[in-house]
Amino acid sequence: MITMNEVWKTYPNGVMAINGIDINIDKGEFVYVVGPSGAGKSTFIKMMYREEKPTRGDIIIDGKNLAKVKERQIPYIRRNMGVIFQDFKLLPSLSVYENVAFAMEVIEESKSNIRRRVMNVLEIVHLKNKARFYPDELSGGEQQRVAIARAIVNSPSVLIADEPTGNLDPETSWEIMDILEDINNRGTTIVMATHNKEIVNTIRKRVIAIEGGRIARDEMKGEYGYEK
Ligand code: ADP
Ligand code: ADP
Repeated sequence: MITMNEVWKTYPNGVMAINGIDINIDKGEFVYVVGPSGAGKSTFIKMMYREEKPTRGDIIIDGKNLAKVKERQIPYIRRNMGVIFQDFKLLPSLSVYENVAFAMEVIEESKSNIRRRVMNVLEIVHLKNKARFYPDELSGGEQQRVAIARAIVNSPSVLIADEPTGNLDPETSWEIMDILEDINNRGTTIVMATHNKEIVNTIRKRVIAIEGGRIARDEMKGEYGYEK
């Protein structure tokens, strides 16, 4: 599903963020990406949705080499992946319903099919009753759940999460994890960068640790392995 071969990333200012990574993630896996600040986690994650381009190496997702795709192909590539962030990135002037519908591919879809799909994903994140609300009327956890609904509305094969619980209190973070596990159980591959030691050590999954731009550990049902 996701393969990286000898991937390197040097930023234009000379910082060597990723220094030769090989990785294979199978369909349906749930993977945590951990490591100290500045280790290269964000760069690793950003290359997966082509927010950053590797300097060298191949990144193959669903058979497409992200290192080789043309700029104009990027939107098509991103259709098959959902992304969520620490700061949610919702559009403040749109309602919950509109935030999700806006992200939906609506080529030749009837209004009723769009409505059915949007309400269906809002049900998965337990927000059907807040469809008419605006982001600033929601708690942080609810905003992240809208972002998750938006990320999965096109049924992507991969969901990429960059510190999705970083702005949330512990209880809300567990709720978000319940939803991510549910989505994973429905077949979506999940790659999640996180600093949440409690979650990683409790909901045991594959752990990929990055240090100095290299894979320092890669363990099934691994541990967080750092103090914080
Ligand atoms: P992490 O997510 O583990 O904190 P990052 O991938 O954000 O690590 O950063 C890895 C290294 O790359 C750090 O030294 C960071 O300062 C540097 N870096 C990150 N983004 C950029 C950028 N856009 N330009 C230059 N250097 C960057
Ligand atoms: P939390 O305790 O999870 O942070 P809040 O106290 O922010 O949640 O909100 C509690 C509930 O009230 C949430 O379901 C939220 O959607 C709702 N709510 C908060 N602010 C508003 C508002 N301005 N208008 C309507 N509903 C709101």
